[in-house]
Amino acid sequence: AWADATGARQVLYAAPRSFCAGVIRAIDIVNRALETRGAPVYVRKQIVHNRHVVQELESRGAVFVDELDAVPNGALVVFSAHGVSPAVHAEAATRDLQVIDATCPLVSKVHSEVRRFVDRQHTVLFIGHAGHEETVGTMGERPNGTLLVENPTDAATVEVPDPARVSYLVQTTLAMDEVAEVVDVLRQRFPLLQAPASDDICYATTNRQQAVQTVARESELVLVVGSTNSSNSNRLVETAERAGVPAYLIDDAEDIRLDWLAGVRTVGITAGASAPAALVDEVVAALRGLGPVEITERAVTSEHVFFALPKEVRKS
Ligand code: SF4
Repeated sequence: AWADATGARQVLYAAPRSFCAGVIRAIDIVNRALETRGAPVYVRKQIVHNRHVVQELESRGAVFVDELDAVPNGALVVFSAHGVSPAVHAEAATRDLQVIDATCPLVSKVHSEVRRFVDRQHTVLFIGHAGHEETVGTMGERPNGTLLVENPTDAATVEVPDPARVSYLVQTTLAMDEVAEVVDVLRQRFPLLQAPASDDICYATTNRQQAVQTVARESELVLVVGSTNSSNSNRLVETAERAGVPAYLIDDAEDIRLDWLAGVRTVGITAGASAPAALVDEVVAALRGLGPVEITERAVTSEHVFFALPKEVRKS
């Protein structure tokens, strides 16, 4: 059981954890649009991949839709942090929609790399997950010049028109070690393979993975706060597992199962880049309900990244 006579259980906070600059900006955009334009504010796809964030914005008048055909002509629509293809922008224009683009600037950076490479007659091998909105949007920049590579097997079998003109780019939220494995395979097959100018895996993904690795080494269990469709949160679970501990993704405190905690003295806790910090507090409060808890933070770095809001919602 959790409580015993030997004193408090240890909670190790991974730091950095929870919101990144791109998520803060995207949520801010929807809130400001609601304040200045009033409800409803349509949002194409989940603004960020977190159930609690979406529910909260819905309660204030945001209306989440899967595709633009669910948005009335001429209405205001926000594009999510994961980015959209040019085809979606074009459709919005023909429908006279007022667009506010909440695409994270670090996703936009990868979009521009796709355009740059493909316009130089390269085939871009995009390392990402099929069907993820970021993958769809990024590859949609140049659908005829990009090929999806999901894993080392794909890397070993993908065929390109000209092996001398091939480059790779990466979804921003993948696991660093997994991507390195895929790139190794690609390099063996395509010695002239070109890399992105700077890392595509973003600072927030990198920092959260390094932080969870650090706490996992000292923990018997790792809890990752995040939603099931959150790519970076799932990668945190896998990173902790690869460090050798059981790890679970939980949307909130209610998802904690008591049997995970049996005999566990040290619990590592982190949260994906789309998961609100308040949910972490609730998780710790739930643990406190089971017995005394002592919290320590393991910070691998501190973050000072901030992205300005787009002009449509900037306060003058
Ligand atoms: Fe941007 Fe990285 Fe956050 Fe995604 S995880 S929104 S790429 S900062």
